[in-house]
Amino acid sequence: MRYQTFKSTCSYCGVGCGVVVKKDHKGRLQLEGDKDHPVNRGMLCSKGRNLHYVVQDKSDRLLFPEMRGARQHPRQRVSWDAALTRAAAVFQSMIRKYGPDSVGFYVSGQCLTEEYYLVNKLAKGFLGTNNIDTNSRLCMSSAVAAYTKTLGEDAVPISYEDIELADCFLIAGANPAWCHPILFRRLEKHKEENPNVKIVVVDPRKTQTCSIADLHLQILPGTDVVLYNAIARRLLETGQVDVDFIAKHTEGLKNYRMLLAGTSLKKAAKICGIEVNDIKLAAQYIGNAEGFISMWAMGLNQSVIGTDKNFALLNLSLLTGQIGKPGSGPFSLTGQPNAMGGREVGGMASLLAAHRIQSNPEHRREVADFWGVDTLPDKPGLTATKMFEALESGKMKAVWIICTNPLTSLPNSRRIEKALEKARFVIVQDISRRSDTAAYADLLLPAAGWLEKDGTMTNSDRRISYLSKVVDPPGEALPDAEILWRFAQKMGFRGFDYQDASEVYDEHCRLTKNTNIDISGLSHKRLQEEGTFQWPVPFDNHPGTPRLFVDKQFYTISGKAQFNTPVYTENRSEPTDKQHPLVLMTGRIRDQWHTMTRTGKVNRLNSHIPEPYLEINYFDAMERDLKNGDLAVVRNGRGQVRVKVKISTDIKSGVVFLPMHWGKILNRDFARANNLTQGLIDPVSKQPDFKYSAVQVERYRKP
Ligand code: SF4
Repeated sequence: MRYQTFKSTCSYCGVGCGVVVKKDHKGRLQLEGDKDHPVNRGMLCSKGRNLHYVVQDKSDRLLFPEMRGARQHPRQRVSWDAALTRAAAVFQSMIRKYGPDSVGFYVSGQCLTEEYYLVNKLAKGFLGTNNIDTNSRLCMSSAVAAYTKTLGEDAVPISYEDIELADCFLIAGANPAWCHPILFRRLEKHKEENPNVKIVVVDPRKTQTCSIADLHLQILPGTDVVLYNAIARRLLETGQVDVDFIAKHTEGLKNYRMLLAGTSLKKAAKICGIEVNDIKLAAQYIGNAEGFISMWAMGLNQSVIGTDKNFALLNLSLLTGQIGKPGSGPFSLTGQPNAMGGREVGGMASLLAAHRIQSNPEHRREVADFWGVDTLPDKPGLTATKMFEALESGKMKAVWIICTNPLTSLPNSRRIEKALEKARFVIVQDISRRSDTAAYADLLLPAAGWLEKDGTMTNSDRRISYLSKVVDPPGEALPDAEILWRFAQKMGFRGFDYQDASEVYDEHCRLTKNTNIDISGLSHKRLQEEGTFQWPVPFDNHPGTPRLFVDKQFYTISGKAQFNTPVYTENRSEPTDKQHPLVLMTGRIRDQWHTMTRTGKVNRLNSHIPEPYLEINYFDAMERDLKNGDLAVVRNGRGQVRVKVKISTDIKSGVVFLPMHWGKILNRDFARANNLTQGLIDPVSKQPDFKYSAVQVERYRKP
């Protein structure tokens, strides 16, 4: 059989595995891992292997724009022209009456870089508002804040190839065995081939990742800072620090030492709920390592002290001089496939293109000049949760939601529901109607999905890849970038007369010129012809940059990396009490992705864990007379969910876990884990805390 062959990148997690897609003469697709791809070398996980089924299943796809005149009316099919004319009229009217900050965009780490670029140009350059934020705020912003302060910029210093060069790993608040499976397989193989490699896992739950751990530090939720400070204290005590590196390439050790001087290992062990000897052992593994890599994800980031947790972990790399050399460095694992690409274009309320900072007047001037506009707004934009609070309070009137399902994924679902009810106008742009949020749309815009459009993404190790268009989108669905530039044209804005996504990409690349993420040597053509590149790629023949800070020149003003002094204090999140004595953590399961709008369509993936569950410790279950499979109600003042219990000794007593994927549309009884989460945010990164909500669990009794 004859096939056309295309290369692309998996559109689920931030690992960024390469895939080869074959299309036969009837348009049927086959998919396999790309053996030549440096990330996955032909491997794919269960989600990646089933991606093409999702593309071919059109059962719940949005095919035409739909609009309604008033909330109580059903939506009717309309033309693209009518849909975008209405969107433009609403935005113009709101801005005229209430000012530019009355509108905003909430987008996604699933968006391609070109789409991210356009929505930022549109909002910040032309609508005059910084109200553009992303669901990457929910997964990455604490790491971004900590990298920026420590290294001078949001720059992941290392590369996947460093995994095979390291001999000690600290995996903190992450379960890569389920959430970054191909990266985990590389790690597992490395450990199999090199038994001397040490792996320390820090997690209140004993997850699948612990299967390769030499040491599992099962800390109590929220105690990470005291643990990493205690490890640092031990490294100082034993002299296992890189004195030369610290002296030449860092600042802030004095204050950090003072902080550590007040840290007692015994007290730290008590706070964390672990043994002193285990802290010493972790320090010994790290201190003895030739190459030390820390890896982390949501367990650190999704916290009211997420930035401090990141600081405390990053300090360990500075203390041991394990950065800017092969097999070493702090490696934050991005959750989404293009969380990093979004940040490159400034896809957050606090950022501008090429890692420029919104609050910096010079940066605003550079971008304004580039876009040919007088100024960029200086008022900070609303971040994810704040945007929905502003809708609820009536300060913001209209929101445009692209490729994400905030009603299921943002904390405190009831408030998000209220916000969407209160909003004067809600636009939802997505591939599917299988989302709780879509029900609130006044205007529903059908978008093209993976393989139905082209563009680029950047994975966790700064690797940029080109994604080919393989099939036409169904019905009248359009690529997100085209929807945005057509809207901008309707608004009468100059500079949006693109013919295709490659023109948008070229513009973005030009705007990175002479910055630390300079990719002016890239184009769609080069990526198609030569494969993937890690930024920076500052000129045409540049091969890309696998490792940053090799010259130990950090991006801070002084060129030196900064020690920070994260102080641990108790009760910085939602305290438990008699009524709500358990700490709820939410998270992901192996075969589902986000709110299941895609993975939920694949039987093979659903069969792994077919329904939501509550993981609860044996003693907590016994106390409540709960047995495996019993129905329980998890509740607090914000809401409740009804769910079967899974009794486990893998979770600490006092802590329970719910998967975050199911929404009301998929499981009305369970409703949403985020009915219970509290919505408090880290004051620096503005990232919400999904790992510490106080709840009660009771046996379900029929009313
Ligand atoms: Fe896709 Fe991530 Fe699985 Fe790779 S590890 S196939 S990127 S979901």
